[in-house]
Order: sequence, then C-alpha cells, then structure tokens
Amino acid sequence: MSELATKCLIIGSGPAGYTAGIYTSRANLNPILIDGVQPGGQLTTTTDVENFPGYPDGVTGPKMMEDFKAQATRFGLLTISGEVTSIDFSKRPYMVKVNGGGHVIAADTIIIATGAAARYLGLDDEQKYLGMGVSACATCDGFFFRKRPVAVVGGGDTACEEAIYLAGLASKVYMIVRKDYLRASKYMQQKVHDNPKIEVLFNTQTMSLFGTDMLEGAHLVSNKGTENENEFDIAVDGFFLAIGHSPNTAFLDGAVELDEGGYIKTAPHSTATNIPGVFAAGDVADPVYQQAVSAAGMGCRAALDAERFLIENE
Ligand code: NDP
Repeated sequence: MSELATKCLIIGSGPAGYTAGIYTSRANLNPILIDGVQPGGQLTTTTDVENFPGYPDGVTGPKMMEDFKAQATRFGLLTISGEVTSIDFSKRPYMVKVNGGGHVIAADTIIIATGAAARYLGLDDEQKYLGMGVSACATCDGFFFRKRPVAVVGGGDTACEEAIYLAGLASKVYMIVRKDYLRASKYMQQKVHDNPKIEVLFNTQTMSLFGTDMLEGAHLVSNKGTENENEFDIAVDGFFLAIGHSPNTAFLDGAVELDEGGYIKTAPHSTATNIPGVFAAGDVADPVYQQAVSAAGMGCRAALDAERFLIENE
C-alpha cells in the first residue's frame, strides 16, 4: 500500500476530469487523477465526435480522450489506474482509498468527475441475455452482429448515433421508441430517416426478450393502453439499450448531497458541493446538457473553484 498526498484529487477521466487536470497542473496543485473503471470515460465507446470545437474534420472518441490525457500529462498530471472505494470526509485533508494499487491519498480538495453509466429498462430478460445479445454499447459490441438484425431502444441522440453505427454492420436496425417522435437533434433525426436500413417503431415498448441460449428476438407492444394496442415480435440477434444514463455516485455512500435524479447538487454559479473543498463536474453533476464540451467547461470551473478554495483556506 502506498500513501500519497495532493492539493487536488480528481476522480474520473472523461472530458471534465482531464480538463480539471490540465488547469490544476498548470496551477501547480500537483493533482492526481484516478481514472476509474472506464479510463477515458464514455467517449471511449463513441464513434465520431463532430461537435467538439477544434476538430474541424471530427475525431473519434478514443482519440479525443488520448489527446485530453496527453495535454494534461504534459503539465504534470499524475494518473493512477483504479477505482475510489471510500472517502473519509470527516476532516481535511480527506482520506481517499483507491483499489488496484491499494493507494491511500490525502487530498486537500477533491473534484468528482465520475460521469454516468448506461441505464437499462429493468426487464429480467436484460440480465439473462446480457453479453448474449443484450448490450449498452454499440461501438463495443456491434461487430458481433455483422449482417444480422438488431434493435436499439431509445429516441435520443445516443440511440440515433448507435442505430446509424449499427446500420453500417447489421442487416437491419429497428429503433424502438416509446413516444411518437425522436427526441434527438434534427441533424441526427435526418441521418436516421435517410438510412434505408433503419426502421423506427414509434409508440412502441419492450415487454420481454426471447431466445434459447442467445437472444433471438423481442416481444413488443405498440400503442400501449389505447384501443389500437398491438403486441408483436421482432427477430433480432442484438438488443442495444440507449435510454440515457445514471450518475456514478455510489462510492460517495450518501455523503455528498444529490438531487432527486441522483445528480450531485452544486451551489449556484459554482461547482461546490455541500462538503467544503469538494467540487463536482461533468455528467455526474449535470442533468441537463451532458455534452463533452460542457463537461470540459465544468471541469475547468471546478479546477478554478478548487484553486480559489485553497487560496482562501490556507
Ligand atoms: P436522452 O435522455 O436524450 O434520451 C433518452 C431516450 O431514451 C429518449 O428517447 C427516452 O424517451 C428514451 N427512454 C428513456 N427511458 C426509457 C424507457 N424506460 N423505455 C423506453 N425508452 C426510454 O439520452 P441520450 O443518451 O440520448 O443523450 C443524453 C445527452 O447527450 C443529450 O443531451 C444528447 O443530446 C447528448 N448526446 C449528444 C450526442 C451528439 O451530439 N453527438 C451524442 C449522444 C448524446 P422519451 O423521449 O420518451 O423520454
């Protein structure tokens, strides 16, 4: 076990975490970043990112996160692989336990940038067929469904992006959308509409999944609760969830105040949480925007807030 100390510990390695890393290292706070279960965050499972400023031709998610890391490392950010298992918030410096290397880190300030994880519908069958056809990451698992029919659940930008990606591999892509419209941006809606391999099933929900060992299909209902209610099956080998995300806060064990949606609450015009010297940035604290660029912006703000906190409290 090793004992380390830092003026600023950053938890999470997405755009918010690495941007906080760039700012805090340039401010000589000798920051340490814990990279978590999915180093690089959710963008490492995305295909093309076309809306992050500074990349006129677009960039892949993994490449962009490599660039973030390289930029932060250049200024001295120390990145540690592992997951935070517990934090003693009773006094400063806060004592943070990290599994993997078994580190204990004394942190004067903490920036929580742990992002969010994919949500599931809550059907028992999702667990039954997880890894046997059910997935929440098209870019990770789409390859296994080449020339086979698949379904994507959801009507947001993620669902559209996944459907378009899968259409490049699969024989057919159903989008299962519970409302009569797509919530996604007009641009993504158009791309879905223009893709002949994608069929959007509006007003449709999933009742159950079936298959002997591997997934073979989904049992759906359209117009649920109306006089036109209609149950039917689609034959699909892959079933991809794209219905939003839940913030990753379990490791905080209730110590940091959350809102009713489970996102970390921050003070108005600040990234400060209810615990002095603890700040939050990115999707874990943002139920509204959830963009790479807004997460990066919030990471910058958290770093500046931490720096000011240290000046005022030392
Ligand atoms: P969203 O919350 O935007 O969309 C979730 C979708 O899943 C909605 O269509 C929602 O339906 C549906 N849904 C939620 N729960 C259920 C359920 N239980 N059963 C069936 N359907 C359900 O999440 P996204 O992950 O798509 O996007 C999150 C944010 O990230 C957004 O701000 C989005 O713009 C952004 N984003 C941007 C991208 C880009 O610009 N390239 C790419 C990906 C995401 P309903 O509409 O009925 O609520």
